[in-house]
Amino acid sequence: MFQLHGSIAVIVLNNPPVNSLGHSLRKYIVEALNAANANPAVRGIVITGNDKAFCAGADVSEFGKPLQMAEPILPNLLNHVESSSKPVVAAMSGVALGGGLELALVCHGRVALESAKAGLPEILLGLIPGSGGTQRLPRLTGLEIALAMMQNGEPRTGLQLADSGLFDKVVKDNLLEAACDLSNALADELINDSTPLPRARDRQLETAAVQERLAIARTKLTPRQQLQPAYTALLDALSAATLPLEFGLQRERELFLKLQGSSQSRALRHQFFAEREATKLPAGMQATPRPVQTVAVIGAGTMGAGIAICMLDAGLNVILLEQHIDALQRGEQRVTEHYQHRVATGKLKANVAAANESRLTCTIDWVQLSDADLVVEAVFEDMSVKLEVFKKIGTHARPGAVLATNTSYLDVDAIANATGRPQDVLGLHFFSPANVMKLLEVVRGAHTGADVLATGMELGKKLRKVPVLTGNAFGFIGNRIYNAYRKQCEFMLEDGAWPEDVDSALQAFGFAMGPFAVADLSGLDIAWRMRKAQTATRDQRERYVAILDHLCEQGRLGRKSGSGYYSYESGKQTPFTDSIVHAIIEKASQQRGINRRSLSPTEIQRRALLAMVNEAALLFNDGIASRANDIDVVLVQGYGFPSWEGGPVFWARQQDRTILEQDLQTLAREAGFGFVLADLSALLS
Ligand code: NAD
Repeated sequence: MFQLHGSIAVIVLNNPPVNSLGHSLRKYIVEALNAANANPAVRGIVITGNDKAFCAGADVSEFGKPLQMAEPILPNLLNHVESSSKPVVAAMSGVALGGGLELALVCHGRVALESAKAGLPEILLGLIPGSGGTQRLPRLTGLEIALAMMQNGEPRTGLQLADSGLFDKVVKDNLLEAACDLSNALADELINDSTPLPRARDRQLETAAVQERLAIARTKLTPRQQLQPAYTALLDALSAATLPLEFGLQRERELFLKLQGSSQSRALRHQFFAEREATKLPAGMQATPRPVQTVAVIGAGTMGAGIAICMLDAGLNVILLEQHIDALQRGEQRVTEHYQHRVATGKLKANVAAANESRLTCTIDWVQLSDADLVVEAVFEDMSVKLEVFKKIGTHARPGAVLATNTSYLDVDAIANATGRPQDVLGLHFFSPANVMKLLEVVRGAHTGADVLATGMELGKKLRKVPVLTGNAFGFIGNRIYNAYRKQCEFMLEDGAWPEDVDSALQAFGFAMGPFAVADLSGLDIAWRMRKAQTATRDQRERYVAILDHLCEQGRLGRKSGSGYYSYESGKQTPFTDSIVHAIIEKASQQRGINRRSLSPTEIQRRALLAMVNEAALLFNDGIASRANDIDVVLVQGYGFPSWEGGPVFWARQQDRTILEQDLQTLAREAGFGFVLADLSALLS
């Protein structure tokens, strides 16, 4: 049940891999505690975990299932610990998250390693702490720290929290010894001076100050936070922390249970599991990855520099290769400035930045490519340039090196064939900014070797990204769906909406940005160039909206040129409605013979989402995505789709199927020639 260290009973949590508080662990803690309390040789108790985890909190897979409600449920377990007659001290190493931290909060003392990580990440699953976190943490740390920790869900280290009031002691090492000492000291006080055991519940917060601060926090919720009920519920729960604990706990529980059944929390939990699943190759495709320590990045432009940074951040050696010395210097400067900025803003220690930069080699000499275990190409999006570059890669890369292209749209098989070793080639589609965005599409070509694919997935995890497998087809998963969505939004411009109507409706749904604001940000010229290249092959019967072309013809290339779908004051990012744009759009409607009508936000949202769902079903039926849920991961992680709506597939599954299919038929009719109506059955089954 427990180990005896002198007269201290040490209860070791052991539920691999991260000590989640599943039913069996909860039961074990109660039994061990009872045994320790009943044993006359024991005067104090320590609860501890292992290097990786003190306790990572509730077992999410039990959510909403009978086991979650099987005794001892978490709140009852915590009451039991708090009311132990012998002092209980938490000895914390590794992570203490959610219910794991709440367990520590009911102990009579807490000792943590400097490296331990404590956090209440429930908000990321659309929840609030449900077992006292909102009531006890502010009693220990004060409202400010507790609010910040629960609002962003990010864990903080023992060192960062050393003076927060959360811990009695933060140590570099000898954790168990320090915890046993504290347990002994508390036992002494209890026996010698009848000092009651210290409990967070007995502390009081200052009501007026707390309510005043929470009122300010309410006004500061962002529009995206306002769309997620957990953010308001958190403030409501914190507001109850000024009441006697029993009342506060009751309020917290009510709010928690309501959130647990909310569509937002279900969607976020769906995302959580979908993400976890997406990073694994489907059964039958698994293989041992090839080792990667040195990566060559070809092309040091926007993407190349960003890719180099994320490789350096992951501890890899990077060879950055360019065609001209001036382009190389610009790329190197991008990397250097990035690290200078991170250090200047306190986000990275100078020695870490220096160590990362020391692993970077910049060159225009192709011979150096032979040192690379993996090559990532990020040159211009032009097939002839890519073919030439991959031919050279085929010549210079060492046998067995993995060869990747960061192309957004081009055919990975054609590129692979240029190397003479297509089995070594795959697509690694990073998103911009490459060192920030978590999504990585791992593209499987017709000849990609299983171990090469496994290397791509493994690398994604090493870079702390979410790698998602995709087949080789125009736009892969993400850009293909995004194109269908953007096209539908362009139809809506011709039908009667303005860019600002479409953008605000989709932002109100929860998208990080509307499609036209995104287009202005990334520049309209890329799409313009692609449209021009497709002119010859485009079927004239297809509905084609030429508004973007007309904007570009007038030099409106997006933010970088000061105007696009909106205009921008020099150096500023705020978009302004522009009468010139309205005139271009009105003319486009006229030319198509459309009587403009106003579109409601609901219609705009529904049409945009239906277009996504239809395209998702098409590509899923083609086998481009191997799991329907992967599509949700791609859209949420790479395209600003609101995570609390779960992704387009999850959204579609919540809709009435008959109405959904009827609406899709209407959408197809209105789009006219070229719109392929998808069969939704496989996607939504
Ligand atoms: P960019 O124009 O910023 O950079 C391309 C770089 O490649 C330039 O510095 C150029 O000098 C270099 N280059 C060209 N030919 C070369 C050669 N033969 N040898 C060595 N270097 C050469 O372009 P970018 O935006 O970084 O895009 C690069 C690739 O990434 C494209 O395939 C693009 O589709 C893809 N991509 C871009 C984004 C984005 O948002 N920019 C997102 C995902 C993927």
